[in-house]
Amino acid sequence: MQNTRARMLAAVAPTGRTHPLLADTDAPREHAEPHAGPCPTFRDCTVTEPGHTDHYAHDVLAVLDERNTSTVLDAGMVALSDDEPRAVVCIGVAEFTDAAAVHAKTAELRRMLDQVDAMADRVFADHEARG
Ligand SMILES: [Zn+2]
Repeated sequence: MQNTRARMLAAVAPTGRTHPLLADTDAPREHAEPHAGPCPTFRDCTVTEPGHTDHYAHDVLAVLDERNTSTVLDAGMVALSDDEPRAVVCIGVAEFTDAAAVHAKTAELRRMLDQVDAMADRVFADHEARG
């Protein structure tokens, strides 16, 4: 498989339209939707074109830096129609093809973030102590 993330990023061109989840929520919907999102196949897919076969969500889950200019970490999904059909969840540059692998990595990330909190407590306490 080629680099799924690069292909996903290449496939994601701005449409100039407001995402349905960000649109005016008072506007009447044309159809009753069985899923939370606009895609009938993948609930997390953000593609709105009817009949689309390449599914993805990008820029939906992201943590930005302190100036809100760069991405610290993001996550998304992609399921393209051209390869063997399969779905991928991306965390940063890592790609996962099953939920257990994602859960293992997010658990690792949680442990790491706890360590970052502890490090920050030590660093700023030590900084205060040195005067
Ligand atoms: Zn879709």
